[in-house]
Amino acid sequence: MSCKTVLAKEITESFRKEIKDTINSRGIHPRLVGFLANQDQAALKYAEATAKTCLETGVDFELRKCNREELEDLIIEANEDDNVHGILVYYPVFGDRQDQYLQNVVDCQKDVEGLCHKYVYNMYHNIRYLDKEETKKCIIPCTPLAIVKVLEYIGVYNPVLPYGNRLHGRLITVINRSEIVGRPLAALLANDGGKVYSVDINGIQEFHRGPGLRLKKHEVHDTNFKLEDIIPISDVVITGVPSPTYKIPTSLLRDGVIAINFSAYKNFEPNVKDKASIYVPSVGKVTIAMLERNLLRLYDCQNG
Ligand code: NAD
Repeated sequence: MSCKTVLAKEITESFRKEIKDTINSRGIHPRLVGFLANQDQAALKYAEATAKTCLETGVDFELRKCNREELEDLIIEANEDDNVHGILVYYPVFGDRQDQYLQNVVDCQKDVEGLCHKYVYNMYHNIRYLDKEETKKCIIPCTPLAIVKVLEYIGVYNPVLPYGNRLHGRLITVINRSEIVGRPLAALLANDGGKVYSVDINGIQEFHRGPGLRLKKHEVHDTNFKLEDIIPISDVVITGVPSPTYKIPTSLLRDGVIAINFSAYKNFEPNVKDKASIYVPSVGKVTIAMLERNLLRLYDCQNG
């Protein structure tokens, strides 16, 4: 068995060092406020992990627990507070469209998660900068961005190709099409030149920029494919199904596949390493590093 398991900790090391060095050498105090208005254990764990990493890297992180009814006013207060550089809300709060509303209450200039409409729109439309001079990069949602960084680290992005086309020729399946992770991830990968099969509970869509990457941004088609059609031909399989019983049969995977799991549960069978060349069991730590990276970017925009 020659599979290499790549842990998120290993991938984050260079980012953490860069963030820590930047904060120390510039003597800055970027401040991130996280709002926890639910009883979700996964959210609490994520908040605790964020607090630990921030402490290690020099980011001033404050977790504010509140009732969901007071959350909107507290976000507005933080928007107006010059000592707060980034705002993070742990979702789900209401678990419906009101959460989307709250994502847009967070001031874009403090939106470390990149969930406000402007950033989401720019991401889907492959608009990478906020200004004409191309000095201010857009904020990209943390988990999709983390998975892009995982793919860069393990060499799925081809650095010989020009920036923006580095996934040309790669076939990637993403199992999850949530608005927070799976759909933006499929769009980002297709915008970077990959052909992406995006799977959700109802079916499979194809995201691509066409032959020779003739389109500037990705387009999407419904397909009649089944998992059995696409998994055996995929170079990379990325999965985030929130269920302990969901498993991708190892027998379906292409020999030498790159297998990445971002679900809280293990979506690959224990013998995935019999087929995979690289296996990434989780990405949570990379997400937190991207949160900090986004915070520094916002800090610089607010102070420059
Ligand atoms: P969600 O419930 O919003 O979305 C789940 C997605 O999986 C949907 O697109 C759904 O259609 C799809 N799905 C469910 N069952 C399926 C099936 N049988 N076949 C194909 N598709 C199926 O959840 P989410 O917020 O996207 O989170 C998903 C998982 O990722 C959770 O376990 C969560 O904890 C984890 N997560 C991890 C990180 C991180 O590591 N950084 C960040 C966010 C979420």
